Amino acid sequence: MEKKTLKDVDVEDKQVLVRVDFNVPMENGEVTDDNRIRAALPTIEYLMEAEAKVILMAHLGRPGGEVKEELRLDPVAKELANLLNEEVVKVDETVGQEAKKAVSQLESGEALLLENTRFNPGEKKNDSEFAQKLSELADVYVNDAFGATHRAHASTAGVAEYVEEAVPGFLIQNEIKTMKGAIDNPERPFVAIIGGAKVSDKIEVIKSLLDKVDSLLIGGGMANTFIAAQDYEIGDSLVEEDKIDLAKELLELAEEKGVNLVLPEDVVIADDFAADAEHKAVGIDEIEAGWQALDIGPETVDEFSQIVKQAKTIVWNGPMGVFEMDAFAKGTNQLAEVLAKLEATTIIGGGDSAAAVRKAGLDKEMTHISTGGGASLQLWQGKPLPAVEVLDNK
Ligand code: ADP
Ligand code: MG
Repeated sequence: MEKKTLKDVDVEDKQVLVRVDFNVPMENGEVTDDNRIRAALPTIEYLMEAEAKVILMAHLGRPGGEVKEELRLDPVAKELANLLNEEVVKVDETVGQEAKKAVSQLESGEALLLENTRFNPGEKKNDSEFAQKLSELADVYVNDAFGATHRAHASTAGVAEYVEEAVPGFLIQNEIKTMKGAIDNPERPFVAIIGGAKVSDKIEVIKSLLDKVDSLLIGGGMANTFIAAQDYEIGDSLVEEDKIDLAKELLELAEEKGVNLVLPEDVVIADDFAADAEHKAVGIDEIEAGWQALDIGPETVDEFSQIVKQAKTIVWNGPMGVFEMDAFAKGTNQLAEVLAKLEATTIIGGGDSAAAVRKAGLDKEMTHISTGGGASLQLWQGKPLPAVEVLDNK
């Protein structure tokens, strides 16, 4: 069912409560990556220009339902104010007298940011009382926190039930339109690249992609479990012993469905999980005891590159190696460089994958970099996003 949009509602002089995804990395009280804040600007700027009273709310980290000083949103408010070049009032609570007062003093065209929603134990439980209290601040509710749409929490879903109008913001609209379009109606060949630490995180998405893609390329730590499933020794590599049978099943399933599932043929092994470890590229039949695979090898990069160069649609989730260490970032970076040069539709989902592409300076070259990890995986599987389901239909 088609959802109403932000442009369908009248926001002038209204209290518009906006859930955004400001779950940004921070160090020493400073935001170190402001991409998620930037991604929310179109909605925030639109509302301010439309003379709405903009009440922003967001979560940060995992405070576990209590106040954690280091997870207050003050640095985020500061960063947002810089980006907007406007004042942003920061309120030290999410609901309560102080929040109500700040909201009542807000003028049309101004914005304020409430405190970390996860300081409240009702947030993750989707507690109706907390959701109702949030709704008291709002004439209109806008959800633009794409990265949190796979979770039905009080501020992402519950609150929508208690407000007159509940609509998605521009970021959610754009994420869904771009990714759903590419997955449901891909221009073929359609190739998925899946990597990252563990198979167990991504079993469901792999299964579901097997019904959709022409080729599935598997790299990263999770490839080790598939390598083990082919009866090779994997030394000290990260492996999920209890998922080896499942990896075998996935290999069979790919064959049944006629999907070209490609695993690494060589890997970069290291004698330690360390940036300065001794390392070398070897075939997957040459992984030595005491060594661990931390990246895909050059032959695999070539093989993967050949396949993606033929593709018209590529979705990528999960780095090909431990990209945080330069010695093991080559597979991820070289593949990103190949994607960057293609005319094809290129979609990156996953927090670490997006970070890797940005670190390589190639983010502008991709068709779409999702702000959501779990949410994008859920969307790629065609599963409903609970925080979007609750929004008003047209
Ligand atoms: P994303 O956030 O893009 O979904 P994941 O969180 O699933 O990706 O996985 C990213 C992590 O996987 C990174 O921290 C990376 O270091 C790790 N990783 C990738 N390859 C390996 C490997 N061979 N061994 C251990 N860790 C790996
Ligand atoms: Mg991750």
